[in-house]
Amino acid sequence: TETGLQAEALPAEPATVAPERDLFDKFAPLIAERQALLDSGVRDPFGIVMEEVKSPTVAVIKGRETILLGTYNYMGMTFDPDVIAAGKQAFDRFGSGTNGSRALNGTFHDHMEVEQALRDFYGMSGAIVFSTGYQANLGVISAIAGKGEYIILDADSHASIYDGCAMGNAEIVRFRHNSVEDLDKRLGRLPKEPGKLVVLEGVYSMLGDIAPLKEMVAVAKKHGAMVLVDEAHSMGFFGPNGRGVYEDQELEDQVDFVIGTFSKSVGTVGGFCVSNHPKFEILRFVCRPYIFTASLPPAVVASATASIRKLMHAKDKRAQLWANTRQLHGGLKQLGFRLPTDTPESAIVAVILDDQETAVRMWHGLLEAGLYVNVARPPATPAGMFLLRCSVCAEHTPEQMAKVIAMFEAAGRATGVIA
Ligand code: PMP
Repeated sequence: TETGLQAEALPAEPATVAPERDLFDKFAPLIAERQALLDSGVRDPFGIVMEEVKSPTVAVIKGRETILLGTYNYMGMTFDPDVIAAGKQAFDRFGSGTNGSRALNGTFHDHMEVEQALRDFYGMSGAIVFSTGYQANLGVISAIAGKGEYIILDADSHASIYDGCAMGNAEIVRFRHNSVEDLDKRLGRLPKEPGKLVVLEGVYSMLGDIAPLKEMVAVAKKHGAMVLVDEAHSMGFFGPNGRGVYEDQELEDQVDFVIGTFSKSVGTVGGFCVSNHPKFEILRFVCRPYIFTASLPPAVVASATASIRKLMHAKDKRAQLWANTRQLHGGLKQLGFRLPTDTPESAIVAVILDDQETAVRMWHGLLEAGLYVNVARPPATPAGMFLLRCSVCAEHTPEQMAKVIAMFEAAGRATGVIA
C-alpha cells in the first residue's frame, strides 16, 4: 500500500537537528517549593481527600471526622432531601449523561427547567446555563467584548474573569481593587466611541469583602459602559430575594449581566448568565465554552432546579448563615487574629498570616484537631497574601462554631500567630 511504502522509506533512527528539551524544566522551582513544604512534615494542603461526606458540615478525612469550614456550601443544599430526590429521579428518567453539547443533542428537559428556575429566581427574561461558572465567565466575557472594544476589570478579579479576557480580543484595562475613583479615571481616558464592559464581583472570594457596586455602576453608566457582575459568592443570602449584592444595593435595573454558579449555594455544579438584554439568546451561538463542551448531566441540573426553587424561600437558612458568620468573625477578631474586614461582609472569613510556612503549619494544626479550612496563596490571593480562608455554612450549628473558634485559639497559640 501507499502507507506501507512511506513507512519503509522512513529511516530507522531519524537524525535530530536539535536536542530534545524537557518542557517540565520550567516547573522545577515549584516542584522544589512543594517538596520542601512536604518535607517539613505537614500534610499537603492541596491534596486533601474527602473519604466520606456525612453532611454539609462534616466529612471524614484520613479516617477522622472533620468539621468542614472551607467549602462553598453556603446554604447547605448538598444533602437537602428534595435536591437529592430530584437528582435520583432524573437519573432514572434520562440516564447518567447527555453525550453532547447544548447546541446539538445535549439539551434535555431538565436544562430547560433549570433555565426557567433561574429566570424566576432572578426575575430576568434571559438565562443560559454553562457546564461550570468558570466556563460562564470564559464564554460570556470573551464573546461580548470584541476587537476594538474595552473590558475594564477590578485588579482582584477571579481567574475565570482574567481567562475570559485573555481568550477574547478586547483591550483590557484594570483598575485598583474596589476603587471607584480609579475606575472613573481609567474609563475617562478611553475613547468615547467603542463599546465597553465593566466587570465586577459582588463578593471578592479571597478576602470576603464586598464591592461598592452602587457607586461603581453609576460611574460605569456615566461613561456609557455595560456592566457584568459575578455574584458567585452571594446567591441565596444577599438582597431581599437572595439575588446577590447587586440586589442588596438596589441595582436591579442597572446591571446588564449577572454571572453565577451552581457549585456554591446551589450545591451541585454548573454556571450561568442571566440578563434582561433583548438579544441575550444569541450568546448560545457565539460562546465557544457553551458550544464546544458537553452539557451538564441531567441529574445535576434536576438537583440544581430543586435547589434554586428552594433558595427562593430559604429565609431561615440565610438568617442562620449570617448568625454563624457573625459568631465566627467576632470570635476570631476577639482572639487577636488579623482579618481583612472589620465587620463580616460576606460568608467568607479570611485570616491573614505572615508567610506560607506559618499558614500551612497552622492549617495542619487545625486539620489534626478536626477542622478543615482553605489555604490560599498567591497567585490566587491579592498582594502576595497567605490566608486561612473559612467559608461558613447555614447548617453549621452555634456549638460547631464555638468549637471552631476554640480550635483556632489552640492552633493560633501553638504556632505563635496569637499571643
Ligand atoms: N467566579 C468566582 C468569583 C468564583 O469564585 C468562582 C469559583 N470559585 C467561579 C466564578 C467559578 O465557578 P465554578 O466553580 O462554577 O467554576
